[in-house]
Amino acid sequence: MKIVDAHYHLGDCRVFSLNATEDEIVATMDRNGVQAALVQPFPGASDPRAVHDRIAALGQKHPGRIFGIISLNPHTGREAWNREVDRCVQDLGFVGIKLHTIGHACNPLSEDGGMIFEAARRHKIPVMVHTGMGIPLAAPSLVGPRAEQYPDVPIVLAHMGFVITAGEAVLTAKRYPNLYLETSWSMVGDIAWAIATVGADHVMFGSDTTDNVAVELAKYRSLDLDDEKRAQVLGGTAAQVFKLPL
Ligand SMILES: [Zn+2]
Repeated sequence: MKIVDAHYHLGDCRVFSLNATEDEIVATMDRNGVQAALVQPFPGASDPRAVHDRIAALGQKHPGRIFGIISLNPHTGREAWNREVDRCVQDLGFVGIKLHTIGHACNPLSEDGGMIFEAARRHKIPVMVHTGMGIPLAAPSLVGPRAEQYPDVPIVLAHMGFVITAGEAVLTAKRYPNLYLETSWSMVGDIAWAIATVGADHVMFGSDTTDNVAVELAKYRSLDLDDEKRAQVLGGTAAQVFKLPL
């Protein structure tokens, strides 16, 4: 079984006062048996372009273990934004793009939110949307109309509604086959409910911070899942949605 952490960050964050180094990320992966991780800059990165480069460099150093997700404030100039997205996919091989509803103050239904879904369609990569903490912008149901508008784009609801809107996240995901749930910070009972409601092939493990990896894995260990479903939620779903060559 290959464990894939679908939600990891590298670098500094001036929004949430966080920092994660390359060494911390790889050491935490090794300590917890995580084979591969999807790594993105924090929404408050001082220099997100430089963090994109650091993620690519880390991926070069650890082939098959580190995959990049683009995260860049969409309100800072469309041409430059699209140029950086194109660079990350074409030159750095990134596999997804983040819409940070609260860290970038971006409503999925806004014009700039639409620009992110258009870029994902153009590059045939999934969008990960921060949900839960930070409502109303982070309300999971706001992603529904985009899932309907972009049925060809896989969309991951990060944090599965962050406990407070978990019900909304699960029920919105149930309506659209291209919506997936990433479960960092979720309550263990809600994770069981999500798997039963949308299927193991629509639920993926993620941690968000290095000190949360063991905690999130313990939640999955406590669930009564057969080996096939456990392998699916711990790595299979993320590998399939982001087309990871594992
Ligand atoms: Zn995050």
